[in-house]
Amino acid sequence: MKVGILGAGQLARMLALAGFPLGVEFIFLDPSADACANKLGEHLHGEYNDPQLLAELAERADVVTYEFENVPADVAAFLTAHTTVYPPAQALAVGQDRIFEKNFFRQLGIPTAAYAEVNSLDDLKRVMDEIGYPAIIKSRTQGYDGKGQSVLKSPDDLVAAWQLLEGVPSIVEAFVPFTREVSIIAVRSPAGELVFYPLSENYHRGGILRIAECKTNDPLQAKAEEYVTKLLSSLDYVGVLALELFDVDGHLVANEFAPRVHNSGHWTIEGAATSQFENHLRAILNLPLGATQAVGKTAMVNFIGGLPSTAEVLTIANAHLHLYDKAPRQGRKVAHATALTDTEEALLLTIKQLHDLAEKTNDS
Ligand code: AMP
Repeated sequence: MKVGILGAGQLARMLALAGFPLGVEFIFLDPSADACANKLGEHLHGEYNDPQLLAELAERADVVTYEFENVPADVAAFLTAHTTVYPPAQALAVGQDRIFEKNFFRQLGIPTAAYAEVNSLDDLKRVMDEIGYPAIIKSRTQGYDGKGQSVLKSPDDLVAAWQLLEGVPSIVEAFVPFTREVSIIAVRSPAGELVFYPLSENYHRGGILRIAECKTNDPLQAKAEEYVTKLLSSLDYVGVLALELFDVDGHLVANEFAPRVHNSGHWTIEGAATSQFENHLRAILNLPLGATQAVGKTAMVNFIGGLPSTAEVLTIANAHLHLYDKAPRQGRKVAHATALTDTEEALLLTIKQLHDLAEKTNDS
């Protein structure tokens, strides 16, 4: 069996590492000659919209998947016409535009912050009268890790925020006074079978995920499963999907979803009976889904912009290092470590040790 992946970054790399024991082979399409998954399979080197390379990918792979949501609609349509593509193109279309995404949540009865579309500075001034301060402005498309976003605290912030976005179509969202951020990772098979991982509790700084901790028996697990089930079923989804939510005093408010494996699920590699990467492959290859329960107290810490010393990470008891084979660059995720322990106390200690190390090497 051969899986084609659009993109050859760390998510593609971790999919390949999960696929080898199952005898799965990989072919990647990526414009970067030194993309970090290239060594783990065949590499088609070129742009994502190169018709010849897309035809080759469709021809040579049994199923095509992707590691990022900004796959252009015509690329998804071309691939879908020539081979099986999972998750389905509709999930991409909804997930890559924040307005479509929020409209979709609303249609499904999944709570969101108040939001409005903004296409000009005049629009922005007008909608802020309705939404009120504080609020957040984000580009509708292409945004990730908080890029181009600003918090609007007063009318004085509007001109600068609009300039920062360079006038691209945008969304304004009311600022959600959350007590914590969580995500749920779910998997759906072609037959509609569903499995869910325990909630991740996520700590961001500067819009970038720093730590994700697995929360077994979280009181909001059932509600999160209900919301993500609505999403998966209505999209006739196949594969892994991550739904990011705010917990506002015990009530969940949806932020966004990612139609792919997700950074907040990296703890599943050592911390769950079956990792999110293996379960994504199982789903898209129409194989039985694997058990999702946590196998201990577990969490994940990201290394951003700077590499830790391998020996230093491995000195920490209960830590498992994953290097992505990427050159460090400002704000770039280059590695993570999973903490897997027997007790809550040991977990907190391991997270602290890993976080301290990350803070020494992180550049932001
Ligand atoms: P996003 O790019 O939408 O995932 O946003 C990145 C991070 O910014 C989130 O993980 C939150 O920490 C914060 N954030 C985004 N939207 C909101 C909001 N409406 N209210 C409060 N915080 C937000």
